[in-house]
Amino acid sequence: ADGAKSGNGGSRVLIIGATGYIGRFVAEASVMSGKPTFILLRHGPAACPAKAQTVRALEDAGATIVHGSMQDRELMERILAELKIDVVISTVAGAGSILDQLHLIDAIRAVGTVKRFVPSEFGHDIDKAEPVEPALAMYKEKRMVRRAAEGLEIPCTYICCNSIAAWPYHDNTHPSEVPPPLDRFLIYGDGNIKAYFVAGTDIGKMTVKAVDDERTLNMTLHFRPVSNFLTLNEMASLWEKKIKRTLSRATMTEDDLLNLAKENRIPESIVAALTHDIFIKGCQFGFSIDGPHDVEVGQLYPDEPLRSISDCFDDYLQEIVPEIVGPMEIVAAEPQNSLSVPLTCIS
Ligand code: NDP
Repeated sequence: ADGAKSGNGGSRVLIIGATGYIGRFVAEASVMSGKPTFILLRHGPAACPAKAQTVRALEDAGATIVHGSMQDRELMERILAELKIDVVISTVAGAGSILDQLHLIDAIRAVGTVKRFVPSEFGHDIDKAEPVEPALAMYKEKRMVRRAAEGLEIPCTYICCNSIAAWPYHDNTHPSEVPPPLDRFLIYGDGNIKAYFVAGTDIGKMTVKAVDDERTLNMTLHFRPVSNFLTLNEMASLWEKKIKRTLSRATMTEDDLLNLAKENRIPESIVAALTHDIFIKGCQFGFSIDGPHDVEVGQLYPDEPLRSISDCFDDYLQEIVPEIVGPMEIVAAEPQNSLSVPLTCIS
């Protein structure tokens, strides 16, 4: 009667971008949490068979599909009102769709019943970090979305989950879809700058937890797991231990990354600029998070440890190494909160 296929209660969540890389983790976590979950789809299933499979898996798990585009403000207003949506989580792509959220914000404001909006961020604190172009242009768009939501007094939570747990390829927007190297490592700079690595499943799980938590209302939620705060050299050594091989290392200098950024190829140059910000400038830890609008995920949820990089690397071993280097004795941790949905198309 209320349009939700499943859900034992709790906030009614609309996810925009559930077929995407980050959105899939969030949508999985939302349905698995038991919240009535709706996913907005702008394309039919024919657009991409892998995405269609993702949608089927989410539907089978209990998500309800809603058709339409976030750019259609009137439709968004109708959806938010008729489905009695409490929480809107946007995971639209960083390059190209960020400003489309301005229509969504207008719709949220007009309806007036949405209790929480999570804009598409899922990276660094965009008010604190200052990467080179073209990443800066994307940050400026994300900042515009923050300011628009704040100006209309829409209750928000900003998710700053830092790097996804994977080998941080400088030219791949979705690095966890590719296993760490098996031939050689490309080390950025001296490889001694630390970064925080967070499993995609944890990004989804903690985002969904935070949307119903008063302590994250109008706050920035930072992910700074101490045990997953590693340099690239440490990441490389860890992977070498896993595959029981030593790989050669080549250096990518600051200038190499800046030159790739200057080529202004989207999205590759955005990733190069962010790689520079993370692994040359140390953008993830160069500021404190003790301001009145900052909260840290481990401090909020001390009983919910995040997956370790070691466990995430074990997942790759399970997937790829037996085929490449022969069977090895590995005991991999079970992935948590995963519906085993297939990888999405890289858009
Ligand atoms: P993707 O390109 O993988 O997915 C974007 C999703 O948004 C797709 O499902 C797409 O639908 C949907 N979408 C876009 N526009 C609309 C619209 N108008 N109406 C409805 N749906 C729409 O994005 P990513 O997952 O790569 O990026 C999401 C966020 O995460 C970005 O802010 C990005 O910067 C950040 N990010 C962070 C990473 C990290 O390591 N911390 C890594 C990668 C991204 P469709 O299927 O129709 O195209």
